[in-house]
Amino acid sequence: MKHNFGAGPCILPQNVFKEAAAAVLDFNGLSILEVSHRHKDYVAVMSEAIELVKKALNVPEGYSVIFLQGGATLGFTIAALNMMRDHKRAGYINTGTWASGAIKEAKKVGIDVVNLGSSEDKQFTYIPKNIEIPADLDYIHFTSNNTIYGTQFHDFPKTDLPLVCDMSSDIFSKEINVADYDLIYAGAQKNLGPAGATLYIVKDSALGKSTSPFLPSYLDLKLHAEKESMYNTPPVFSVYVAMLNLRDLLKNGGVKAKEQENIAKANLLYREIDSNPLFEGNVAVEDRSLMNVSFKLKNEALEAEFDKAWKAADIVGLPGHRSVGGYRASMYNALPLSSVQVLVDVMKDFAQKNA
Ligand SMILES: *Cc1c(COP(=O)(O)O)cnc(C)c1O
Repeated sequence: MKHNFGAGPCILPQNVFKEAAAAVLDFNGLSILEVSHRHKDYVAVMSEAIELVKKALNVPEGYSVIFLQGGATLGFTIAALNMMRDHKRAGYINTGTWASGAIKEAKKVGIDVVNLGSSEDKQFTYIPKNIEIPADLDYIHFTSNNTIYGTQFHDFPKTDLPLVCDMSSDIFSKEINVADYDLIYAGAQKNLGPAGATLYIVKDSALGKSTSPFLPSYLDLKLHAEKESMYNTPPVFSVYVAMLNLRDLLKNGGVKAKEQENIAKANLLYREIDSNPLFEGNVAVEDRSLMNVSFKLKNEALEAEFDKAWKAADIVGLPGHRSVGGYRASMYNALPLSSVQVLVDVMKDFAQKNA
């Protein structure tokens, strides 16, 4: 069995893979891949997936859960178009590649983007603090977890303005207060399911208020909420597997239990990084991500040898993002503590051999 530390598409529980594989061959007599999305058996899958999202995240009344295609990348555009109001101005926090992607797309649809903080000066290795929020903004956008750099917001300034968040890589990893947000979006493939589906959680009172002169049907969240994610063909298989994964999550203590496990996994690895003389973390300690742990060898000349060591332990997906280098251990919900222990043991052993 491999220990998959890949940043996405994500590791999922083995039993979810097995159930998904079985449904490819037989989902009530047909393959899940050939079933009509209008068939009552599939409509039931979509409804259950939506209900399980609400249950897992304690989504309050007055919010809609929607599954669409297009990834979080289309989410950048959908967020800007749907949240645009009279100011046509919004505040963005630039914490790296995905946040800058969101900024770029907002500008393209005519949002005047106000920079509320950026960590670009230090290669995105920290989360900007002391964020000041002007009043004349339609909304505020941030990226809760920065998958590439390994930083994460551990809290966010209170504001009365509508809050929009790209939670692609930490949704379902910890408890959140959905009522703080007008819009949450997340590509499924970082912690929820296979690539292909994108999750939106939107406050109903924010729907239908866009001031954009351009709002194609597919990009209008109000339409999708009304059609219960069935306006057009949904990502049938991806939603099905996400539903299986959410069932598994809720059966195993839900997000609350996962959060404790994720803290234990992160503590184990960060403790090793901090105590091992050969390694160091890449980002500000107080902003470290529990999902994506970014670290490096102090002596890069040892990389080839370390690579051999972790590969021999059946670890995969450890190299850092091409823009950062070094190593990145992504520890999504389905990665067991025992896999983190394997990596820690490899690091300890490596330090001994290279002392
Ligand atoms: C991966 C990722 C994206 C891009 O997601 P796609 O589904 O590939 O479009 C955006 N934001 C964050 C935080 C991510 O981790």
